[in-house]
Amino acid sequence: MENYIVSARKYRPMTFDTVVGQGALTTTLKNAIQSGRLAHAYLFCGPRGVGKTTCARIFAKTINCLNPQPNGEACGECESCKAFNEQRSFNIHELDAASNNSVEDIRQLIEQVRIPPQIGQYKVFIIDEVHMLSQAAFNAFLKTLEEPPKHAIFILATTEKHKILPTIMSRCQIYDFKRMGVNDIVSHLKHVAKKENIQVEDAALNIIAQKADGGMRDALSIFDQVASFCSGNITYQRTIENLNVLDYDYYFRLTEFFLEGKITECMLTLNEILSKGFEGQYFITGLASHFRNLLVSQDAQTAELIEASDEVRNRYKEQAQKCKPKFLYRAMKLANNCDLNYKQSQNKRLLVELTLIEMAQLSSDDGEASGLCPTQILKPIFAQLRGKKPSAEPTTSNANRQQTSAPQQHRGQQPPAAPAAPTQPVPPTVAKTPVTPRLKTFSIRHTDTTASSVVKEDEEVKQPTAYFGNKPVNNLSLTIAWRQFAAGLPHEDIGFTHQLNNMEPMLQEDGQTFLIIAENPIIQQELAKRKAAIEIFLQQQLQNSNLRMTTRLREVTDKRRAFSRAEIFSQMLKESEPLRKLKEEFELELA
Ligand SMILES: [Zn+2]
Repeated sequence: MENYIVSARKYRPMTFDTVVGQGALTTTLKNAIQSGRLAHAYLFCGPRGVGKTTCARIFAKTINCLNPQPNGEACGECESCKAFNEQRSFNIHELDAASNNSVEDIRQLIEQVRIPPQIGQYKVFIIDEVHMLSQAAFNAFLKTLEEPPKHAIFILATTEKHKILPTIMSRCQIYDFKRMGVNDIVSHLKHVAKKENIQVEDAALNIIAQKADGGMRDALSIFDQVASFCSGNITYQRTIENLNVLDYDYYFRLTEFFLEGKITECMLTLNEILSKGFEGQYFITGLASHFRNLLVSQDAQTAELIEASDEVRNRYKEQAQKCKPKFLYRAMKLANNCDLNYKQSQNKRLLVELTLIEMAQLSSDDGEASGLCPTQILKPIFAQLRGKKPSAEPTTSNANRQQTSAPQQHRGQQPPAAPAAPTQPVPPTVAKTPVTPRLKTFSIRHTDTTASSVVKEDEEVKQPTAYFGNKPVNNLSLTIAWRQFAAGLPHEDIGFTHQLNNMEPMLQEDGQTFLIIAENPIIQQELAKRKAAIEIFLQQQLQNSNLRMTTRLREVTDKRRAFSRAEIFSQMLKESEPLRKLKEEFELELA
């Protein structure tokens, strides 16, 4: 088998000119060599994998070259250069301070410093990760750094400049290596791919470069990994699969949905993303970057700031034309808020869902002032609904509820009502504050000791509603609509909102009735009070006028989410006589 060399080693630059993305810095070094003004100590700072050690090695080779070129590079052919190229030169010593940071290691290095070079002029000592040296090792080294022999040059490299002692800094010439741009990395990867005879898609290289976060070494090792995964043909699709990167196509699609106000599609897309194993926060920060890119793309000048392939950049430009700056600004703000609240949130998925719902309402809500609160944003839906069918809706007063109460005898015996005819003149019973006029129609049958009962409202007296269609419904779309309803409740209803979010509507066999299990009679009563508002909202949202809600109390056999401490305690009291006595004796209460 052929000896495999990783690309980062195989394509390590041998001259200053081939170092990628550090042009200013390598020019300065070359000039210093040409003019013969060399310092005794250099400090190379910068993130990992941006070429610090590589430049240090090229520097060592160049200053020792017996036949320096006019352009400031080493000849690559003299005895010294050959020794360097074959990694057998005695004029270069490397110490990795991350693993060799003791006084003893430094003492050995100092021994070497005293011996003059056999060939060439200089001995170069490279100390990598110099900030890792122990305090004692630092002290031992300082003396040598202050008064080095003429032939010794130190190159200290670090990723953490702030950890370097001022006494060291003041004795060094400092070079700051910058993170490499995505474009620099991409063009170098293209070069490598060509040499290795590997087919690549530009978009794939962009993803690799972004993942490497400005480090060429990382970029090349990711490149190797992807190349072996794709067996010689690096495509965008296989790259994102291998690197577990979220396809930016999702962001483009979602933005379209936001602009068109398609909430259901947004929820389904989120579901798809999460089911692929992506973390909600990763998704939301990616979405924020997408909006940022769109904003930047609105101006041809700033569009160049986007680090992406030309094809993707054009897609950004295209989508940016459809977005108003105000929409992008607000959407970015929403994404940012979601990101900030993510860690604290108990229900992270809901937080992301709410954010998406709010985003999807941004474009329809253009006139309003800030409009970032979901209750404000959802208002237009209700208003629209009422606007279409002018309402003779009773007010929220108790008197009205009483008047419209239904006779008791119908309770619990009626099948679900037939779809309301579109021609029915009677308006839907929906108001800003969801109330139904049928409080009395509801009751719980305490037929046995289990206290379980199915409560069905009297469908006959239910006022016919607007016709929304008869689209098929499934549990997922139902749950989404359910949460949208909860999100749209006014702030005073925060308690009820919370309860709604803890419930899952369950579609029954007929495909149009859904069951809600209530934790206790009070919640069930509350649900009954708002039945009409809930149903109309869901009917409109899911475009199915046949949707009906039934509720029942939770039974002992129903699975419970979790027990509260108080519930556990009261159960323990029931089961343990001594505990009960203890509680009574000392009048103990659960804190
Ligand atoms: Zn040479």
